[in-house]
Amino acid sequence: MNPYYKDFSEYMKELYPGIKVQKLSIDAGFTCPNRDGSIGTGGCIYCNNASFTPGYCSPKDSIETQILKGKEFFRRKYPEMKYLAYFQSYTNTFGKSCDRLIKMYEKASEIEDVVGVIIGTRPDCLPEDLLEGLADLNKKKRIIVEIGAETSFLHTLQLINRNHTWDDVEKAVYRLNDKGIRTGLHLIAGLPGEDSGHVLATVRQACRLPIDSIKMHQLQIVKETILHRKWETGEIELTPYTLEEYLDLCVKIINEVPRHICIERFLASSPPDMVIAPKWGLKNYQFTNLLMNKLKYKDPHHGL
Ligand code: SF4
Repeated sequence: MNPYYKDFSEYMKELYPGIKVQKLSIDAGFTCPNRDGSIGTGGCIYCNNASFTPGYCSPKDSIETQILKGKEFFRRKYPEMKYLAYFQSYTNTFGKSCDRLIKMYEKASEIEDVVGVIIGTRPDCLPEDLLEGLADLNKKKRIIVEIGAETSFLHTLQLINRNHTWDDVEKAVYRLNDKGIRTGLHLIAGLPGEDSGHVLATVRQACRLPIDSIKMHQLQIVKETILHRKWETGEIELTPYTLEEYLDLCVKIINEVPRHICIERFLASSPPDMVIAPKWGLKNYQFTNLLMNKLKYKDPHHGL
């Protein structure tokens, strides 16, 4: 067991005792209301969806085919593995009727060896009828909703063109909690105009909410994004974290997050050829090893 914080594997063991569980990303061909004008245009300034959609996902394949391909990949090594269908790309509760959405999640949940469904979305795309449908589905197979929150600071949310507020995040979390649905928040460290104090303040705000997990990552300047263009022209000033600075920040974040909340990950893992900065060239497990060493060195008794 990780002595410093509840990591994703501990969280999964808690939810699915005795079995090994792996997420399988799905691109179900969703779009985004922050791009098509429903909520905003242009999208979040750092967003290039190609950078966080695994290469094996293609909306040309049916959801079933994507899951079967993912299962095939893992089955050779781990024949006993079970899976979480992860609706990851864009806003996975937007642009279809509630009935169609629920049927889609249900279909994914019924595929052999799928033990739950994770749905990534925005805090302002969770209408009441959808929550009711999710609550019903959650009685048959576990549903987890992952909300892009990013920061609690309104001026930053405006600067990065999120087109929602922290209040939207809080309301969404409480409504999901009322329905008994597990919720994770996605946060970004190193947004323009923010220092580590801002990040820690957001983490503290998040931890006051009835959430189950936090997924944190360093801001990456990714090719073909508004952030990339504005950073190059100097319109946005930003000094990405060095690896050492970010590791130090992660130690502080761990100290803020109570043990009952899982910290799912700290590292963004966009394809290296799409990342302009920071270029650390680390895989998630390599970053975690560095973090563990730092934690051991800083406070060998923390969490024990
Ligand atoms: S990060 Fe999410 S909300 Fe923002 S533009 Fe990309 S898909 Fe849309």
